[in-house]
Amino acid sequence: MKIKPIVAGNWKMHKSLSEGVSFVGKIRNRILDKEKVKVIFCPPFNSLFSIVEALDGSSFGVGAQNAHHEQQGAFTGEISVDMLKSMGVQYVIIGHSERRHIFGETDEWINQKIHAVLNGELIPIFCIGETLEDRQMNQTTEVLLHQIKLGLGGLDSIDPKKMIIAYEPVWAIGTGETATNDQVAEAHGNVKTILGEMFGDISKGVPILYGGSVNEKNGAELIKTDDVDGFLIGGASLKEDSFCSIIEQVTTYYRG
Ligand code: PEP
Repeated sequence: MKIKPIVAGNWKMHKSLSEGVSFVGKIRNRILDKEKVKVIFCPPFNSLFSIVEALDGSSFGVGAQNAHHEQQGAFTGEISVDMLKSMGVQYVIIGHSERRHIFGETDEWINQKIHAVLNGELIPIFCIGETLEDRQMNQTTEVLLHQIKLGLGGLDSIDPKKMIIAYEPVWAIGTGETATNDQVAEAHGNVKTILGEMFGDISKGVPILYGGSVNEKNGAELIKTDDVDGFLIGGASLKEDSFCSIIEQVTTYYRG
């Protein structure tokens, strides 16, 4: 199955409403080959609705950075999948390392969120990745296996059009340190194998993104790496030129 590469920008807690709307408006007007790459903006909750409106009629996607697994209830500060859907949001980042490590999200909770996102007919961008300590102890493959088995536990099957995986080594996120091509190829290959064992051949069509200090200098090399189907980008997604340059690199060099 042919995979269309994806470039998703995770803005984290950056950009006011007006900054966000103006930013996506500028990118919408740039000449990008939107047929060849799917671009997704993941702004903070404050601007989701307005950004969906600003991108109306375009092929750009909009994602949230988190969602609660319950549909409603006494969960101060949280937002449900149905609420996101009612705003026109199509994707939800689940299990980002900052959610895991700063906010204490467990694999079990992430699994509940994945089910909630799929039940709500949105598409999860499911993040996995090892810490530096895991890597130094040669535990990377075991950690990925554990995160995938638990995170996707209870799913009978997988629909490649409704699932995105992002491999993001924790030590590479926001640090300026990028995993080497060999490290990325090995991790992505292992993710594919694990998905194949769990869900069979259908899983070959699930896009696997790399995330961790991707920028306009390393995007071209990284996208040529085996089994890399695009990027989840933090810092470089906040700058118009950097983000567009990475999109162009993916358009040019993705081997599929
Ligand atoms: C991220 O937030 O998912 C990320 C990969 O950040 P950065 O690109 O800044 O490392």
